[in-house]
Amino acid sequence: MPAYDPENIFAKILRGEIPNATVADTDHTLAFDDITPQAPTHVLVIPKGAYVDYADFHANASDAEIADFHRTAAQICADRGVTETGFRAITNAGKDGVQEVPHFHLHLIGGRLLGRMLA
Ligand code: IMP
Repeated sequence: MPAYDPENIFAKILRGEIPNATVADTDHTLAFDDITPQAPTHVLVIPKGAYVDYADFHANASDAEIADFHRTAAQICADRGVTETGFRAITNAGKDGVQEVPHFHLHLIGGRLLGRMLA
């Protein structure tokens, strides 16, 4: 796993250097609308701590950070109404996962019928 790059775009959002459309802001978690939405709901949920990817977050974050992250994501799904209609929660990781931004994030995508996920 590469070292955390503090110049990645989500780190800049967390420092307030780049604006974002905030959806939720808790002690440990920030969520905002994806700048290139793939569906009516396309929210990115990120921890405020510096974690590169899924494995880094779940290995090194505290239980409080992990619980806050997942509860925040679930609350956003409820608030957006997609808990009822269905949604996808996706994280891209590493080279094969084609992760573009090296700060762990979860995509919450819903609000329309999503096609079968093949690749
Ligand atoms: P990844 O491929 O899982 O790393 O996805 C990165 C996501 O970040 C993409 O869906 C981009 O559209 C999104 N993104 C990149 N820059 C910004 C931004 O400044 N604000 C909100 N979303 C962004």
